[in-house]
Amino acid sequence: MRVVVLRLGHRPERDKRITTHVGLVARAFGAEEMLLAGRDDKLVGGLEDVVLRWGGDFQVRSNVSWKREARLWKESGGKIVHLTMYGTPFSESIKEIRQSEAVMVVVGAEKVPPEIYEMADWNVGVGNQPHSEVAALAVFLDRLWEGEELEKEFDGKIQVVPSPRYKTVIERREEDEG
Ligand code: SAM
Repeated sequence: MRVVVLRLGHRPERDKRITTHVGLVARAFGAEEMLLAGRDDKLVGGLEDVVLRWGGDFQVRSNVSWKREARLWKESGGKIVHLTMYGTPFSESIKEIRQSEAVMVVVGAEKVPPEIYEMADWNVGVGNQPHSEVAALAVFLDRLWEGEELEKEFDGKIQVVPSPRYKTVIERREEDEG
């Protein structure tokens, strides 16, 4: 299944850190791309730098028209899941969502445009308490993949060697890459 994350309402002066975390979670939890409604070249550069060092082929596109992206996604047969505290419990629809070939997961910042509720195939809550787009995305993606996303190999220049006690990383130098 292909998964992309659409981040709505990014305000560069306020949301830099949290949108970066949305991107990091999207990458680490198996999405192939984050689309950012709003322009923030520095943030995109920071995430691209993570991909360069830590591997994988995650992409970031900023300054997208969210409506156009959502419309094109649906026209090409993709499904849209909007994460919102007002939605129905995601456990009720996750099995059906897993049947999709391509899923766009939408998260907001403050209020989201009302049209997204109409365009979404599912408006789902990760619980119905207000929390965070980062938490909602992580829990949703983890349940979507049933934990398998955490086994993914990224094959980066930097790799962590899991250790019960020490911080061990391997850094591959340019000349090792052949
Ligand atoms: N009251 C706001 C609203 O209109 O949803 C909450 C905004 S919250 C700071 C930012 C984003 O976090 C939301 O747009 C949603 O994507 C996500 N979020 C927060 N709590 C959530 C929950 N319980 N379930 C799913 N998503 C949630």
